[in-house]
Amino acid sequence: MLRIISILFLITACSSYKPTIFIDAGHGGPEDPGIVIKGEKEAPINLMLAKKIKNSILNLEKGYNVELIRKTNSFISLQERIQVVSEKYKSGDIFISIHQNAARTDIKNNIIIFTKNKEDVKLADAILWLFKYSKLQIFKNREIKQANFYVLNNPLPSVLIEVNRMNKGYRDWISIETNQEKVADIIAVGIYVYFYNR
Ligand SMILES: [Zn+2]
Repeated sequence: MLRIISILFLITACSSYKPTIFIDAGHGGPEDPGIVIKGEKEAPINLMLAKKIKNSILNLEKGYNVELIRKTNSFISLQERIQVVSEKYKSGDIFISIHQNAARTDIKNNIIIFTKNKEDVKLADAILWLFKYSKLQIFKNREIKQANFYVLNNPLPSVLIEVNRMNKGYRDWISIETNQEKVADIIAVGIYVYFYNR
């Protein structure tokens, strides 16, 4: 992680641009828990990671503006999520939706980033490069896929990250706070790399 932080300092030293980043914690509330495995719900994991990503970004660069679309464990419709972005998009730069994947054995990849166009792929590439660089075994298999998910249909470069499959190994791993912070730091630095290369 130290090496990642030193890359970041190199990047921030070269840039004075202050982007706005929307972070969307997928699902929420009793109406929409997302994937549920052995009583463990996806929605609270998404919210916890979204908050940690915001902290990671602001710890590294306080001048950045980070907006959480969902701040509590409550239900927000897909339309409302896009409405928030549409109202503010003129001052916004990127949109990142955080999800966890099903634990089905036919899903081979750990982390999958969904995109809708070329600009999104640049953002996905930057984030996945940092996951590769981290050498964390739990993110060994990585993939970028194209999809027309509702939340990706907004005016900003947007990605939907299925952070990992919610199998027992990952649920145990992500319950440890230092691991949550590792994921948040990787995504935060990936965002910086994207802006640097843009
Ligand atoms: Zn989801």
